[in-house]
Amino acid sequence: MRKLVFLIILVQILSTESFADESKRKDSFHNRKILLTSIKPEKDKVFYLSQTLNKHEYEEIKKKEIKDFKDDLKLLYKLDFKVRYTKYYNLAYMCSEKEMDVIEEKLKIFYNDTYSRYFFYEPRFTLRIIFFKNKNQFIKQMGYNTYGVYYPESPEGPRNTERTLYTYYNSGPGTLWHEMIHSFIDLNTDNDVQQWFNEGFASFYEMGSTQNGKFIEGYTNWRLPELQDIIRKKQLTPLKKFLLSDEMREDYGYSASRFLFCYLWKENKIIPFVNSYVYELSPNYQGKELGLKAIQKMEELTGKSIDQIEAEYISLALKSKTYEKLIQKK
Ligand SMILES: [Zn+2]
Repeated sequence: MRKLVFLIILVQILSTESFADESKRKDSFHNRKILLTSIKPEKDKVFYLSQTLNKHEYEEIKKKEIKDFKDDLKLLYKLDFKVRYTKYYNLAYMCSEKEMDVIEEKLKIFYNDTYSRYFFYEPRFTLRIIFFKNKNQFIKQMGYNTYGVYYPESPEGPRNTERTLYTYYNSGPGTLWHEMIHSFIDLNTDNDVQQWFNEGFASFYEMGSTQNGKFIEGYTNWRLPELQDIIRKKQLTPLKKFLLSDEMREDYGYSASRFLFCYLWKENKIIPFVNSYVYELSPNYQGKELGLKAIQKMEELTGKSIDQIEAEYISLALKSKTYEKLIQKK
């Protein structure tokens, strides 16, 4: 029910606003302040979760968050976690402090370099990340044989397990970045987004590197050969049909959706596409209609028909190598 209420409010706020036009962007969106306010706080002040705080107040709030996190961890697991925090992520871990310093650095570079490019507003809540000791412990506790999982905010709760990324030490920074994108989307949307959008965008960021404090992106990865194989067997779902569905039914859905974001990145349209999908389309449309609007947006941004986009996407997929840095159009 809560999501429905949000939908009605948002339709009124947004109506025909275009987020691509900076001057038309509202200062606040669903009670979240535009990010610029949070990047340039007053001297000695911290802007945190829509409040301007002095350093002491901020530290007190973080202390309380950490205490609550520790209490929840004790309640949920009989494991010995250490806890630390960054501004929007509270972290539980079992590796050494030094090992965690490396992970925290990768997290911060990724957050600083990507969040404000795609999202205009401050995160509406702080997230938790639980790093289990190793893969075995992760599988035992979570029941998934994957690298990580994100539990979004959900009306059913329970609150102490949601808004949380679960992974394990040594699962690789790509897992962390993939799940962080899921959390970014959750922080900025009130309705369900289509799976191809969520997983395609998240998977695009599972491949990258950090160099001199910067995040480097635009790589193909291990998912590509599966897509090439399906294309060669002529079993690829037509792009239009793929984009209209809420859930990906294809086994190769991750590979196909990831490569669509590689294509949008190469065309230098990934940022305006994500901006529009998150702030214009997903608050106003659902299901097939959302898919149709997404297709129209892609056509509008690239100046190409969806059939032309599909042909270029296929040709790029076939000629790319498994691990390759694509070249982005200027
Ligand atoms: Zn995912």
